[in-house]
Amino acid sequence: MNATDQTTLLPTVPAEAPAPSLATIEAHEITAWFGDRMVLDRVSLTMKPGAITALIGPSGCGKSTFLRILNRMHELVPSAQLAGEVRLDGEDIYDPSKRLIDARRAIGMVFQKPNPFPAMSIKENVLAGLRLTGTKASRSAKEELVETCLVKGGLWNEVKDRLDAPGGSLSGGQQQRLCIARSLAIKPRVLLMDEPCSALDPTSTRVIEETMVDLAKEVTIVIVTHNMQQAARVSSECAFFLASQGTPGVIVEHGDTAAMFQNPQDPRTSDYVNGRF
Ligand code: ADP
Ligand code: MG
Repeated sequence: MNATDQTTLLPTVPAEAPAPSLATIEAHEITAWFGDRMVLDRVSLTMKPGAITALIGPSGCGKSTFLRILNRMHELVPSAQLAGEVRLDGEDIYDPSKRLIDARRAIGMVFQKPNPFPAMSIKENVLAGLRLTGTKASRSAKEELVETCLVKGGLWNEVKDRLDAPGGSLSGGQQQRLCIARSLAIKPRVLLMDEPCSALDPTSTRVIEETMVDLAKEVTIVIVTHNMQQAARVSSECAFFLASQGTPGVIVEHGDTAAMFQNPQDPRTSDYVNGRF
């Protein structure tokens, strides 16, 4: 058989796998309680594919609770209760016939305080999620994954020569980017970030914001932030949460970030985005 014949026998394979389609996550009529205290009251929000959606609002209005409901972390609190639905591309993540691990694998989370495993190497930190979710990969696939995730997390150039150094040896901003890289290793479809920059200096914050904007091309991002400038810089969609005088949190207004900041429809949104409370 000559070379030409062989070529004709090869199946046509695209040069690269097609980019995974971006996910939509929809919360419908979410009501949440801790014990008998209601903290969210019928909150509905669609977080659009490829968008960075910012959740803003004063402390205690239920932003973190809402975020944790989106990846089934709320139910880890024994007193927590929940009504409503969360759909990832139309599929109910609370469907009892579905495995919790599948929801967790699809929806990554980054917290306010960078929390890499401090004694574990940078490389092992990135791979930690694979173990937790029982994902198998060959040694070479792992090496490639470590590099890809650290590149996407905006940390590769700073750590490529010391992948075996402990995660705890990095600066705060680098640790947070390591946590982003770690959450990417399980290839989530949605990335939830709860005030990811509030423990960081302005330079690290800027680096993470740039990383986030790049990541939004491949993963739908939802970020809680207290920083209005950050919401304006990174997000395309915004939701303003409020819990006034002990009432449960609600969304007062949501929509296009620029429109909401420039022309808020509700006077309470206007007060908040203009720093009047
Ligand atoms: P935010 O993130 O907007 O500051 P949270 O979602 O953390 O608000 O909190 C919303 C409300 O729920 C607050 O009143 C808070 O005290 C309460 N809360 C949060 N977590 C718990 C918990 N584990 N147990 C009891 N109450 C909680
Ligand atoms: Mg919070």
